[in-house]
Parts: sequence; structure tokens; C-alpha cells
Amino acid sequence: MISVMVIGALGRMGRTVCDAVAADSGLSLDVAVDPAFADTDVAGGFGHSGVACFASLDEGVDAGADVAVDFTTPDSVYGNLLVCLDRGIHCVVGTTGLSEQQMTELAARAGGGKANCFLAPNFAIGAVMLMEAAKLVARQMPSCEIIELHHDRKLDAPSGTALRTAELIDAEREGQPQPPGPAGDPARGAVHRGIPIHSVRLPGLVAHQEVIFGGLGQTLTIRHDSLSRQSFMPGVLLAVHKVSGLDGMVVGLEKLF
Ligand code: NAP
Repeated sequence: MISVMVIGALGRMGRTVCDAVAADSGLSLDVAVDPAFADTDVAGGFGHSGVACFASLDEGVDAGADVAVDFTTPDSVYGNLLVCLDRGIHCVVGTTGLSEQQMTELAARAGGGKANCFLAPNFAIGAVMLMEAAKLVARQMPSCEIIELHHDRKLDAPSGTALRTAELIDAEREGQPQPPGPAGDPARGAVHRGIPIHSVRLPGLVAHQEVIFGGLGQTLTIRHDSLSRQSFMPGVLLAVHKVSGLDGMVVGLEKLF
């Protein structure tokens, strides 16, 4: 039985993760951390019995969990992961918005026989398949743009999924003539690895992404839609089960298949 701590347990993703962990016979939801637990009424209405609830990770980190799952905010995730890794707690990370420098630091801290860190910008299998398909298409049709669409409470833009998709596509285009990128015009999107990314934020959306490839006289569009947060749960549970057997820091759900 793997003992699990959910950090950000009262957020949109955190609540869904708590339900999924509690329903998995191989996992035990033992610790939940969220600032809102400072309100005892909130803690009382959490809906999971026998779980130690804390308002700060400094308290929760000593409660003995094997694996921490972080779905918090771009501002807090890095500090949370440093605390957990230093205490030998394996980390499964869904929070997006970590900088490249922070990722490098985390990779240096993870592993070494202590605690591993698994990070996926998108835990939905369909989104992973979109990225794999985009890599295939990019070899023959290197010109593309990404449109990512999310709910209006999302804090970071572009999304971690869009950034990762651009990196994977760009790696496939290596050695080929690069399509010219837009020259700093904001109306043409944020450019990452030479690929314009357009971010849409609207109520009603969950998490969606299109990659549009253009070639001579044709376009090819690949699209994925997460219609509910349940779409991320099989990937999160897979990572929780596998993280202790990884080596150091691993990025991308496709690495677990
Ligand atoms: P959310 O509803 O705002 O939830 C975040 C929760 O974390 C809030 O309850 C927040 O409390 C809490 N929190 C903030 N700082 C904390 C800390 N230091 N310790 C403990 N809890 C803390 O956000 P969400 O929609 O669940 O999304 C969370 C993250 O997951 C975002 O970065 C999002 O982009 C990402 N995401 C990833 C995937 C994926 O597949 N990888 C899928 C969906 C979402 P307060 O409200 O009091 O600050």
C-alpha cells in the first residue's frame, strides 16, 4: 500500500485526485495539504475520513507519506517539491509554470537513491497521443502553430502542454530548414522554439489544444479536448504507482508506458 499526500487538496484538480487516490485499492490517501484547511469548518467538510489535513506543507511533510502529488500554483510548486525531495518523499507533479532553471535544479535534487520526481505537463492519455502524433507529422510538415484553450482561472500562459508540444515538435524538425517565425508581433502569439502559441482563456472550457500544420495546398489539424478533470486521473494514478521505481527526475507521461 502506497501512502499518498495530496498538496493543493482543495483545488479543482486536488479534490479530483483525492477522490481517485481514495478509490484505488493499492493507494492510501493519508495526508492532505491546502491553505484552506486553516478553517476548521473546511477541514470538517473535506469528505475523506482518516486523512490528516494540514494548512501548510511544513506540518504535512512529517506525516509519513511515501508519495506527494502536487497540483498547486506556479508560485508554490517549486518550494513544495524542494521540501518533499529533501525529506525523501517521491513527487508526482501536475502543476505547470515551472521555469527551465527550476526544472534543472529539481533534476539535480531528485534521485541519487533518495526520492524521485515525475512531472507531466498533461496527464491525459489523449493529450500525450496528440504530442506523439504531432512529432510524426512535424517530420513531413514542419510549419505549424499551436492554439491552447483553458478555463479562465488558469494562472499560467502559455500552458505547459503547449510549451512541451512545441519542444517535441522542434526536436523532430532538427536538421530541416526551419520555417520563419513571426517577428515579435504579439498578435501572432507567444513564440516558443520558433512555434507561435495562441492562448485562449474562457469560462466553460476545461483543457483543449490544437496543432495546425500547414503544407503546400493543405493543412492538417490535430486536436485534443479534456472534457472533465477525470481525464487526468488514470495518468496521475499510474505515476503514483510507478514513481518510486524511476531514476531521478522524469518528464512526460509517455515515459511510463
Ligand atoms: P486551483 O483550483 O487553483 O487549485 C490549487 C490549490 O492549491 C488551491 O486550493 C490553492 O489554495 C492550493 N495551494 C496554493 N499554494 C499551496 C501550497 N503552498 N501548499 C498547498 N496548497 C497550496 O488550480 P487547479 O485548476 O487545480 O490547477 C492546479 C495546477 O494543475 C495548475 O498549475 C494547472 O495548470 C495544473 N494542471 C495540470 C494538469 C496536468 O495534466 N498536468 C491538468 C490540469 C491542471 P489557495 O486557493 O488558497 O491558493
